[in-house]
This record gives sequence, structure tokens and C-alpha cells, in this order.
Amino acid sequence: MSVIDELFALQEQDATIKEFQKQVADIPKRRAREEAASDSHRAALEEAKAQLAEGDARIREIEESIETSRANVAKWEKVRAGLKSEAELRGMTNQIERAERERKDAELRLEHARAIVAAARESVAAAEAQCAESEAAAKMYIARLNVRLAETQRRLAEAQSARAALVSPLEAPEKRQFLSYYERLGRRFWPVAVRVGASSANCPGCHMALTASKLQEAHRNSLLADTPEKMHTVSCDYCGRLIFK
Ligand SMILES: [Zn+2]
Repeated sequence: MSVIDELFALQEQDATIKEFQKQVADIPKRRAREEAASDSHRAALEEAKAQLAEGDARIREIEESIETSRANVAKWEKVRAGLKSEAELRGMTNQIERAERERKDAELRLEHARAIVAAARESVAAAEAQCAESEAAAKMYIARLNVRLAETQRRLAEAQSARAALVSPLEAPEKRQFLSYYERLGRRFWPVAVRVGASSANCPGCHMALTASKLQEAHRNSLLADTPEKMHTVSCDYCGRLIFK
């Protein structure tokens, strides 16, 4: 293999490594998004439960007021039975009638509150079902993501050790300049090494026009590819990518 082929093979391997690294970084983010979705269903369930509890409390409050009103009326009826004067009788009767009107209002409110609670109970049941469903789905998805993460990490480690075998021929003194240029620029640009098409005069990386002498140098390098000691790095004046013909 010529130094050019070796360099492109290394670059291809690094593209694979980058892709695995991206996936390894991305999987925990997807897992977190899935967990957040489950959290939002749980929050909806808590909200529905709170509304139900509020409705139940409201019902108890109305029932107590109805009970109190009934007890008062029973007590006042006994008092009224012992009253003698017309004015006192009328006063007590008014008091009893007012209490009964209020109790009837309370019974209407009670009916309304019970309808609200029945609806709230249905909401809780629906939210519970949705929560269980989304948690089961999330659990399965997360389990799959974990398997995938382990698999990707394994393949990444493999790719990294395969890389070492691709680097070592480029560490020969006559090829070293290409490797160090590649390693240095690879931290900022991707890809580093580019091939200019036969009919093109532009840098495939930044698309700027390359001078005739630059193209000539690149062409010369390709003719000398098997004698790397006679080659030198040819790079784009604009982006710095390594240019090959
Ligand atoms: Zn360029």
C-alpha cells in the first residue's frame, strides 16, 4: 500500500470510530429523554390523584354540613313543639325553613361534586393505565438501548485497536510527516485528506479553487506515492486539508 492509501485507510477507520463515539454519546441522551417522558406521565397521574382527593374532601365537607343542618332542624323542631307565643313559633318556623332551603342547596352541590369526583376517578384510572403503558414501553426501549450501548462500546474498542495497526506503517520516518499533519489537523477539520476529482480544480473540502501549481504538486505526489521519502505534504491554502490527486 502506498502512503496515500494508508492515509485514506486510517481516515476511513477514524470515520468509523467517530461514528461509534457519536452513538456512544447519543445513547445516554436518548435514555434520558425516554425517562423524562415517563416522568411527565407520572406527573399527570399525580395531578389527577390530587384532583380526586380534592373532590373527595369537598364531598365530605358538604355531607357534614347537611348532617349538621339535619341535626339542627331536628333540635329546633323539638324546641318549636314547646313554644307558646305566635311570634316565637313564626320565628322558629322561619329558621327551620331557611335551614331546609340551605340543606336542599347543599344536596344539589353534593350531586355536582359527586359527578366531578366520578370523572376524576376515571381520569386517575386513565392516567394510571397510560403511566403503566409508557413505563413498560420505556423499560423495553431502555433495555434495548443498553444492549445497543454495550454493543457499540465493544465495536468502538475493536475499531480503536484496529486503528493501531493502520497507524503503525505511517510511523515510518519517511511517512511520519503525513501522519503528524493528519493527526494535528484532524482535531479541527474533518475529513483531513481529500482527493481532487480528475476533472476538478477545487478543494473538495472547502470548494475553493486550487492553483495550477498546487494541482501539479498533488499530481506529482501521486506519482511518487511508492517512494514517500521524495514526497511532501500538499495542502489547500484556504482550509489546510491534505490534497491528493
Ligand atoms: Zn480547502
